[in-house]
Amino acid sequence: MGIQQGLPEGFNPGGYDAIVVGAGYAGATCARRLADACGLRIAIVERRPHIAGNAYDHLDEAGVLIHEYGPHIYHTTNDRVHQFLSRFTEWTDYQHKVLANIHGELMPVPFNHASLKLAFGEERGEHLYQKLVATFGENKKVPIMELREKNDPELSEVADYVYENVFLYYTMKQWGKTPDQIDPSITGRVPVFVGDDDRYFPAAPHQGMPAESYTALFKRMLDHDLIDVFLGVDVRDFLSIEDGRVVMCGRPYGGDVIYTGPLDELFGLDLGALPYRTLDMVFETLDVDQFQPVGTVNYTTSEDFTRITEFKNMTGQVVPGKTTIMREYSRAYEPGSGQTPYYAILEDQNLELYRSYRARVEGIVNFHCVGRLAEYRYYDMDGVVASALELSDAIISQH
Ligand code: FAD
Ligand code: UDP
Repeated sequence: MGIQQGLPEGFNPGGYDAIVVGAGYAGATCARRLADACGLRIAIVERRPHIAGNAYDHLDEAGVLIHEYGPHIYHTTNDRVHQFLSRFTEWTDYQHKVLANIHGELMPVPFNHASLKLAFGEERGEHLYQKLVATFGENKKVPIMELREKNDPELSEVADYVYENVFLYYTMKQWGKTPDQIDPSITGRVPVFVGDDDRYFPAAPHQGMPAESYTALFKRMLDHDLIDVFLGVDVRDFLSIEDGRVVMCGRPYGGDVIYTGPLDELFGLDLGALPYRTLDMVFETLDVDQFQPVGTVNYTTSEDFTRITEFKNMTGQVVPGKTTIMREYSRAYEPGSGQTPYYAILEDQNLELYRSYRARVEGIVNFHCVGRLAEYRYYDMDGVVASALELSDAIISQH
């Protein structure tokens, strides 16, 4: 029915069939589907003053469309996710490209045929490329940690170069650890590409940017007679888990609760805080048309920040004489400090701690955890929507 700041006087959760915590992809997807498919009346409570979660974008003072919480590029191989989101937006045909600044020279990342020739020279690069083709085949993705295991001097030469110049310093900055100290699935997100495709997401048949903005996509998704959104409201002010039941405003609540926030916060961190990395995002508007040749440049051998994003290069927006760029600085997240927990740290003891919190809500049939925070996962936007579609399927089947 609408989006408003704060809760109305006399707010009664019992007047809603379901309460959704968080207005990001996870919450908005579930809310929309439950309203559409079952006619449930839904209240979404969101503690930020805006919708769209980490995908929130808006015009800055120079009129440039910026992504407040870091560069978001839509890409998916999942047809169902694409169909669902495409109800609320059209897409541009933007194909994300990233260059690594390696000792001052810009080379494509994922590291590919062209990068090899830039790094090793035309002739040697071509020779090493043919070796990669003979070993892995053409148009194949090879995670760096897999390439490092090959027992061949020429493949090791490539692996060492890429490890040292693309992954080591960047990963140290991003995670405070070396690539071999972190879960291999993380560096595996950006595998060496044995081919010429220089896109960051070569496998994704659907990719682009929402034609208008992410925030506009969310506005449409949440524009439904049965959905109310209350911004600037922290659900912990009136929701708690007591004796295996959901309690709201002091009374047991029997409707469905879809929770997309950090699970440890719901219990006052009483088992310990789930570790995350947070980011400082430093925006700068420059009096030039364009600052860099692509959407994102990764600084893999220098600087304290990990990458610089230039938003106009991704959105295609035309703003003559002005451009806004953003540098990302990563550091350990301090619980309770008001920082944003951006990246779960996928290590055994952290996952074990997460499972302990999760076990506390597992038997509560009307309490559901979904999303990057509530599932403590390294999800892209499409992964979150896929998870939310599955959860809403299950809830819908019970109504
Ligand atoms: P969120 O967007 O975090 O939404 C959860 C919401 O719950 C938040 O708005 C939060 O304020 C609210 N909330 C939490 N606790 C409470 C509470 N107690 N009371 C009320 N509200 C609460 N994905 C891609 O596909 N492509 C990209 O290019 C990409 N780039 C990224 C870049 C960065 C820097 C980051 C951090 C992520 C990126 N992602 C990208 C991932 C993407 O942001 C997430 O997958 C997605 O936004 C997660 O959606 P969500 O709904 O699970 O969580
Ligand atoms: N990575 C790296 N150098 C790069 C790009 C990525 O070391 O130039 C590593 C780094 O550990 C990073 C991970 O690969 O955290 C995943 O990169 P991705 O670009 O997918 O990260 P995100 O956009 O989610 O921050």
